[in-house]
Amino acid sequence: MPEHSALWMNVSLPEFPALERDIEVDVVVVGAGLTGITTAYLMTQEGVRVALIDRERVASADTAHTTAHLTYVTDQRLHELVNKFGVDGARTLWEGGQFAIDTIERIAEALGSQSDFKRVPGYLHTRIGSEPSREDVESLRKDVELAESFGFDVTFTESAPYGGVPAVRFADQARFHPRGYLKGLLSAVQQQGGQVFENTALEAVDDGDPMTVHANGRKIRCKYLVIATHNPLMGKRGKLTADLFQKRLTLYTSYVLGARLPDGAAPEALYWDTEDPYEYLRIDQRDGHQYAIFGGEDVKAGQERDTETVFEKLTRRLYEVLPGVRVERRWMGQVVITDDGMPFIGENEEREFIATGFCGNGFTLGTLSALMARDRFLGRDNPWFSLLAVNRSPFHGGTWRYVQEKVDSPYYFTRERLRRPAAGG
Ligand SMILES: Cc1cc2nc3c(=O)[nH]c(=O)nc-3n(C[C@H](O)[C@H](O)[C@H](O)COP(=O)(O)OP(=O)(O)OC[C@H]3O[C@@H](n4cnc5c(N)ncnc54)[C@H](O)[C@@H]3O)c2cc1C
Repeated sequence: MPEHSALWMNVSLPEFPALERDIEVDVVVVGAGLTGITTAYLMTQEGVRVALIDRERVASADTAHTTAHLTYVTDQRLHELVNKFGVDGARTLWEGGQFAIDTIERIAEALGSQSDFKRVPGYLHTRIGSEPSREDVESLRKDVELAESFGFDVTFTESAPYGGVPAVRFADQARFHPRGYLKGLLSAVQQQGGQVFENTALEAVDDGDPMTVHANGRKIRCKYLVIATHNPLMGKRGKLTADLFQKRLTLYTSYVLGARLPDGAAPEALYWDTEDPYEYLRIDQRDGHQYAIFGGEDVKAGQERDTETVFEKLTRRLYEVLPGVRVERRWMGQVVITDDGMPFIGENEEREFIATGFCGNGFTLGTLSALMARDRFLGRDNPWFSLLAVNRSPFHGGTWRYVQEKVDSPYYFTRERLRRPAAGG
């Protein structure tokens, strides 16, 4: 019987105390998943005094129940993004993903001895075992054309190396071990003077200058608040999900299998298909064998079918697409989808920064969010502020206009980065 536990729990993390006294800091970061920990890391690096609190253990919620693909390829297809947000909007979102992968790579090189970061290609392909329609293939070709025009390294292939179906190959995506990576960041946060508290739930926030954050029956006075709780989102006005976001966010449960594979079953890469809900696969090369992380069967939270039945269906499917696998473990988690395919990252109220709606790209968008929260607090420009703004009006029917004065932003070396030959992949 497969074990019920996410693969990533094999890296243990240090324990942190609960908050037992009143303290004062510059910034309180609520939620210690990838988003909150990265925010605390980037801010303490700049000398900001940070308290990072989590109601449970660090990096144990969705960050530990993921499949850890690092990609700029969004759930929303590129041609759809262009239709909704225009060429500038779509390109800027994908460049954000690329910039986040580069940021994770740099941090992993500096700190992440257990991060297992590796550049691998990603393949967006039609469903394995089904005859691809002409429209499917045309839409893949359309995405290639657009991505190429943005400067990304992509190619169309009639036969993906897994499944033999038509696909787009994206060079230079990546994979990592999320808890291994965050172990290094947590240690750096502490070395940089940050304070980390577990079993410390945010209870309420009193506005004012300074603000007072109530957590674990104690008070933290601060100038700024970052809410990185993914779901639910709590803030100055209580449960934001019940209010502002009621109509714009939907929760889905996604199911995952971890399986051992004979060597040479499929090239090491990330794979996603074009169906909705989509199937996703990550193949890792290990010593003498391969490991497959296979997921899908997403269903709206609250409408879950019998979990056993879903896992059985997913397992049958995995045996079909990758004969010879041995399923070792299974786990599930939640993704937060937005109505327009863009995350909500930015200030929701004065001095309150929130981040949610990452869809299946929580690691790149969570990293981008951390960069944006740091820049907002320090009063710096950031090219993604207006595109991902929490209070943006729906873009449907209109397009987002890139703010030209931001082209001098240091972030725009990312464009140069895209023009470099792919490192691996
Ligand atoms: C099956 C699956 C596969 C996925 N695959 C990928 C992938 O391949 N690539 C990718 O980029 N993304 C993927 N994602 C998405 C990604 O895992 C998430 O978006 C990401 O982990 C979110 O991180 P986070 O830090 O924002 O939230 P979380 O990791 O959920 O952390 C939020 C934290 O907030 C804490 N919290 C909540 N309320 C409070 C409170 N009141 N007080 C204090 N603390 C609180 C929680 O305890 C938790 O630790 C996947 C998700 C799932 C479920």
